[in-house]
Amino acid sequence: MDKKDCLIIKKIIKKQNKIEYDYEANGKWKELLNMDEKMYIEYDMNIEKVPDSIAAVPFLCNVLPISFVFNLGIFVDEIDKSFYECIPEVKKGYIKIHPKIPMLGKIQTKRIIENSYTKKTTGALFSGGVDATNTLLQHIDEKPILLTLWGADVTLDDESGWNIVKKHHISVAKEYGLEYSFMRTNFRSVLNMSALTNYVFEKENGEWWHDFQHGIAILGHIAPIAYLKEMKTLYIASSNTIESRGIIACASDPLIDNYLKFASCKIIHDGYEFNRQDKVHNICNYLDKTNKKHIPLRVCWKSSGGENCCECEKCYRTIIEIIAEKKDPIDFGFNLTEDKRKKMMKRMPKIDLVKYNFANYYSDAQKRFLENYTEEETPSDLKWFRIFKMKNEKPKYVNFFERTLKKIKKAVKRIIIRK
Ligand SMILES: [Zn+2]
Repeated sequence: MDKKDCLIIKKIIKKQNKIEYDYEANGKWKELLNMDEKMYIEYDMNIEKVPDSIAAVPFLCNVLPISFVFNLGIFVDEIDKSFYECIPEVKKGYIKIHPKIPMLGKIQTKRIIENSYTKKTTGALFSGGVDATNTLLQHIDEKPILLTLWGADVTLDDESGWNIVKKHHISVAKEYGLEYSFMRTNFRSVLNMSALTNYVFEKENGEWWHDFQHGIAILGHIAPIAYLKEMKTLYIASSNTIESRGIIACASDPLIDNYLKFASCKIIHDGYEFNRQDKVHNICNYLDKTNKKHIPLRVCWKSSGGENCCECEKCYRTIIEIIAEKKDPIDFGFNLTEDKRKKMMKRMPKIDLVKYNFANYYSDAQKRFLENYTEEETPSDLKWFRIFKMKNEKPKYVNFFERTLKKIKKAVKRIIIRK
């Protein structure tokens, strides 16, 4: 491997709770990384005892998809054995999800280090939404450590947004007697996202962060914590199901996540067998079988006050899913006042579900709704939902025309961004 085209990790600086990476980008790497910023992560615990071979994992996971897609080399002095050995399997997952793109690239190292420990704890990446809450409750007996990255969905400049997330997660952890851990990371901004997306957009209409990056890059951040806490299993909640395979190319998929390993920790892409309505069903069931009065969900990304706004599509969707289970949305963190409910029932039937790819969610909710309510039991403001048509019933030529127009619009947007 020629170092001229390699990304070389020169030094991993570990100081108290912070890991910083000093690296040299050569050749094509210079175009694909944002060279004005070096990657760092701040943990909420001292990480000085983490060996370099583990401390390298978050950085390597962040750049590995680039190495695969662009056939580029990475050089690092020391690498964790489990992680090094899982890379060919992870690559196979990428090949299955993106069959049009050859996955190549190579990692070279001087030393492969075995980092094993007696397995003790489990961890779960946590966002507070339906997927993550389902995973948490399904594995609550294992007392998972709740793990959240600031810098993934919430940007680093959005301090008030982050404080809301943090407050919610701490209260969930307290409610269930769990440990939690937060980290602050600039992993997204060290990549040249527009160059990466432009490339995969040309190849397969793709988008870098969602289709290639987020799963592995987020999971990699947990390696130092896994080492310190002797973690045996790390859960990442699924957003998709087997039905979406081949339709949605998502970087977080069992074909990738379940093969990723570091030290003595294995990853489980959890809940793939459940659709969103099933997950809401599981959460409602948990409420029934325990003495809990509330299970607050945090699904809304629109509200600045931190509560679910009860006015956006995501809130509407979750509210209707909860109602379909014959439960009260108020018990799940939705302050659905009479006024808001009225507004919702007026607006909802007009949302173009097909346009936003939401139709499946609503047809699952409708199915459950029809199972749970007879005509007489149906609340008067929800009669419309019994007969609401989810599927796109426009004539075929209209669909074709709309799809083509959308493609042209997307392509023009890309050209403008590139200029
Ligand atoms: Zn909302």
